[in-house]
Amino acid sequence: MGPPQPDFTNDVGLRSWVPVAEGSDFPVQNLPFGVFRHRRRARVGVAIGDYVLDLARLQEEGLLGGIPLPRRVFARNNLNRFLALGRSVWRAVRHRLCELLIENRWRSKVELALLPMAEVELLLPISPGDYVDFYASLHHATNMGRILRPNQEPLPPQWRWLPIGYHGRSATVVISGTPVVRPRGQVATANGPVLVPTRMLDFELEVGFVTGPGNALGEPIPVGEAWDHIFGLLLVNDWSARDIQAWEYVPLGPFLGKSFLTSVSPWVVTLEALAPFLVPLNPQDPPPLPHLADPRPLTYDVHLEVALSVGGQEQVITRTNLRHLYWSFPQMLAHATSNGALTRPGDLWATGTVSGPEPGSCGCLMELTWRGQRPLLLLDGSQRTFLEDGDTVIMRGWCEGEVQPRIGLGEVRGTVLPTP
Ligand code: MN
Repeated sequence: MGPPQPDFTNDVGLRSWVPVAEGSDFPVQNLPFGVFRHRRRARVGVAIGDYVLDLARLQEEGLLGGIPLPRRVFARNNLNRFLALGRSVWRAVRHRLCELLIENRWRSKVELALLPMAEVELLLPISPGDYVDFYASLHHATNMGRILRPNQEPLPPQWRWLPIGYHGRSATVVISGTPVVRPRGQVATANGPVLVPTRMLDFELEVGFVTGPGNALGEPIPVGEAWDHIFGLLLVNDWSARDIQAWEYVPLGPFLGKSFLTSVSPWVVTLEALAPFLVPLNPQDPPPLPHLADPRPLTYDVHLEVALSVGGQEQVITRTNLRHLYWSFPQMLAHATSNGALTRPGDLWATGTVSGPEPGSCGCLMELTWRGQRPLLLLDGSQRTFLEDGDTVIMRGWCEGEVQPRIGLGEVRGTVLPTP
């Protein structure tokens, strides 16, 4: 079955009657799903240009007829119910929305469900029952190994045999814009541990995938069927306190150094919208065991960048691309369920920090500054090893081709506030 392939909704020539600025993240070929609040009511919408289309209103008006949708499935504060319906329904809704937004004959009715994005509050799009973070970038894992274990083999022995991951805290997955309060934690010093605000606050540039239909308890999702479970992608910032993490993480992995906050972007970009940007995964050596052998080893060509805004002045501090990942999304999902563990609609899976092969193509400050040994010089003349109070981190992701219109993931941002 594999990932969705391009169809008429990806056509370069499509134009909506909704005005969309050149270079917008959200042309009619994108139509990402999110959740917004307007007049105190939360509902599901899709983004087009600078507008949000209210899908609950469209359904009430009968404009989504003929698609097997439960009543009021979009009059909710998360996408989970819709995600449970699976790809054939997701695709039918996308096809209908594309027609409604292209054909002038629908305009007078559909316009009633269109709201300026500036007038709504964007909410967390999913209610994740579970959140897993992987470690799927070879370049990131290699750099971290060199930093943390300088005289040893950088990759742990299992790294090329399975996509390493840990279970994060789904309750602290928050929407872009949520302040990042500098956490307190236990940190090692020469005189023993102390409880202090972290001095090594970092970001991690990641891409998350959101899953729909889950499995039955005890039944692994086969790698060849895993694409059918994946709805779309969003941006994830896995905020990390490196000093807390360093003291706590052996042998059971990250805990309080990560669980204080994980920020996500508001719009989930569907695999259908990303179809023109499928690219082959880099070759894997050694070949994975049969249950992880991906029959279609693919990923997406998604440009990623991190900008730091200090005193109102913004500068890009790193760039990379999702195509550099070592493990594919189906391999991550197959591995995570290979023991029969349950997944449910709305679950969130993140790639782990995405770094690339080029020097400086690093998805976190730990790597960019080599654990603080090589400070970044900022435009205002100041230096950064780790984040300071008042800093704003902005992550962006987008696909672009020579012909294809830009398909943006939007952005995820957060400003660091001092420990109260
Ligand atoms: Mn991470």
